[in-house]
Amino acid sequence: MVHYLCFMHIDIITVLPELLESPFAHSILKRAKEKNLLDIQVHSLRHWAVNEYGQVDDYQYGGGAGMVMMCEPLANAIDSLSKKIKYDEIIYMTPDGERLNQKTANTLSLKNNLLVICGHYKGIDERIREHYVTKEISIGDYVLSGGELPAAILVDTIGRLIPGVLNNETSALFDSFQDNLLAPPVYTRPVDFRGWKVPEILLSGDPKKIDEWRNELSLEKTKDRRPDLLEE
Ligand code: SAH
Repeated sequence: MVHYLCFMHIDIITVLPELLESPFAHSILKRAKEKNLLDIQVHSLRHWAVNEYGQVDDYQYGGGAGMVMMCEPLANAIDSLSKKIKYDEIIYMTPDGERLNQKTANTLSLKNNLLVICGHYKGIDERIREHYVTKEISIGDYVLSGGELPAAILVDTIGRLIPGVLNNETSALFDSFQDNLLAPPVYTRPVDFRGWKVPEILLSGDPKKIDEWRNELSLEKTKDRRPDLLEE
């Protein structure tokens, strides 16, 4: 019997919890939840709204278009959730954060408790970033309308790395970016599709040769497409 020591809890604060219903309800993340390896709780910020209209945002000081998410609901939400759980990181998804990569995902997959804040509109009041947030993550150099999809991406990439989540624990080790290499090409049945053949070596049954071939193609592809990875 396998004993999993690792159990991760992730809380997410959002004004649009509906957007996060589906991403965690299928496939690998669903299995992770069923195996009790990962627990994800989505919290509606409106629960901590400043009035009965559900207000959580306001006009920005200094003028300018676009609303800003207010301090009070966010601070109350974080304080209230922190009473039950000591977070390893309080993460704000934001385009000006550090860009998400496999290294960050690996590091975060070793944590136990994470809190993720999704922004909306112009973003969140800077004071929450200064006084609560411990890590700011961007999923790339483009702007989305909200932090929910970025949060889903972050949780997916972390979740699949938790030991026991993938069927074969080592399988994540052979994906792109582990070891700074892109993954080699993969093939499945049939061996001949419209005359397009699977490389002979993969049918050889010689694991050592196959490994060498895969490493070689990984390296070639990385040199060609992402030479920057090899410099790291
Ligand atoms: N005015 C901000 C963008 C706000 S976009 C700026 O120019 O930096 C609204 C929200 O969407 C942000 O608060 C953030 O939570 C989320 N978001 C948008 N693009 C993102 C990205 N590339 N990575 C992570 N979060 C992003």
